[in-house]
Amino acid sequence: MQNQRGHAHVLVVTYPAQGHINPLLQFAKRLTSKGVKTTVATTPYTIDSVNVDTAIAVEPISDGFDEGGFNQAPTLEAYLDSFKTAGSKTLAELIIKLNNSGTPVCCVVYDSLLSWALGVAKGFGIPAAIMLTNSATVCSFYWQIDRGGLTLPVEQETLAAPMVPGLPSLDIADLPSFLAQPTNQSAYLALILDKLGTLDENDWVFCNSFDDLESALVEALAAEWPVVTIGPMVPSFYLDRRIEGDTSYGASLWNHGNDQCLKWLDSKPLKSVVYVSFGSMACISTDQFQEVAWGLKASNMPFLWVAKEFKDHRLLELVDSIGETGLIVTWCNQLEVLAHQAVGCFVTHCGWNSTLEGLSLGVPMVGVPQWSDQPTNAKFIADVWKVGVRAKRDGGIVTREELGKCLTEVMSGERSGEIKSNASRWRELAKEAVSAGGSSDKNIEEFIAKLPNPQV
Ligand code: UDP
Repeated sequence: MQNQRGHAHVLVVTYPAQGHINPLLQFAKRLTSKGVKTTVATTPYTIDSVNVDTAIAVEPISDGFDEGGFNQAPTLEAYLDSFKTAGSKTLAELIIKLNNSGTPVCCVVYDSLLSWALGVAKGFGIPAAIMLTNSATVCSFYWQIDRGGLTLPVEQETLAAPMVPGLPSLDIADLPSFLAQPTNQSAYLALILDKLGTLDENDWVFCNSFDDLESALVEALAAEWPVVTIGPMVPSFYLDRRIEGDTSYGASLWNHGNDQCLKWLDSKPLKSVVYVSFGSMACISTDQFQEVAWGLKASNMPFLWVAKEFKDHRLLELVDSIGETGLIVTWCNQLEVLAHQAVGCFVTHCGWNSTLEGLSLGVPMVGVPQWSDQPTNAKFIADVWKVGVRAKRDGGIVTREELGKCLTEVMSGERSGEIKSNASRWRELAKEAVSAGGSSDKNIEEFIAKLPNPQV
């Protein structure tokens, strides 16, 4: 592809999890569509899952577990340590290789879980940009802890006043789990605080969000919060349609049987289907699985459920007995499913990518958050953007009755009209943000304009 932006060459470094590869790959595609040469670095065992236009080169860097990654590591801490050591070395080697290949790297954009990439870039004197893959609100909570504005564990009294002016006041259950129960997931929290401690050392801090979506936060923290929004990083095909035919992010760590899903959806009436997915990481408990299954069956609504657990022999009988009204698969191309006209509701774990996808495709949601940032995203879905409801837990799980109540509320209840019209409005706002001249598009253009342009 003709490089219309001089000799700028951006190296995008991904973390090998589905919810992290997706937004980083999409960012690489946006840069390429604007004429910037882009190389994506990912681990050897994920390279074969990446399927992008030849305009984007894909190169390996190591996490020290080149056969199977995270699953081979004894603990999360061991995995992260190994990635830091092997990743720093192999990223430096990759930069040397690319620098010798004619178009030197002029910026490293790295996933926020890989904060060591900043040191590697700076070692070469190359500008660096961190990509935050949570909402700006969630990142700002962590950032305020780093600055001493919030102390752990966060107490209910602290939450009486909004944590950021303009945001609704929150309950402990609305906080990211790392703040509500900080000792349970300390390796993750340490990693998060580590990256937010060095935020100011980056030349750019990108967040996969858009200004309208988190306007209260953007306004409240504008002077001190060094973050620019560049999202939603949802493939352009669904938003501004600038990259024709590009219906996926370009990476799927699991195989999907989308033909089967789309064929099945084709046979269903307009907006009648409930799509259910808890993302790529969360495995729900057997009790929760059963409640979701019976809740879906009792609703009598057709459903498409992505359940990695469904091959578990203890659940096979149950799956058989709810089978007639639904289709259960282990993986699908979620974007194609959400964009299908038969889908009327998305029961989601509220991962940030899924939240942005539901919002950008205008699909009303039922939030069933599990951990991490998901409770905060669910709060925003229900009470800030008002594009859905959040299912209440009873004894740690969402019961079949509660799920049924939420499905009725979103699909046909008193508030369903309001929820559906909000969902359509957010779809338009998401599209506007990334369209030419929109807030996120302008931020990406400004980034490109400021890229150093080494002469070769
Ligand atoms: N996804 C998918 N097919 C599925 C389930 C998920 O393509 O069957 C994609 C989804 O579109 C999203 C990503 O996987 O982009 C999951 O990211 P998210 O942040 O929602 O959740 P995580 O998996 O990180 O918990």
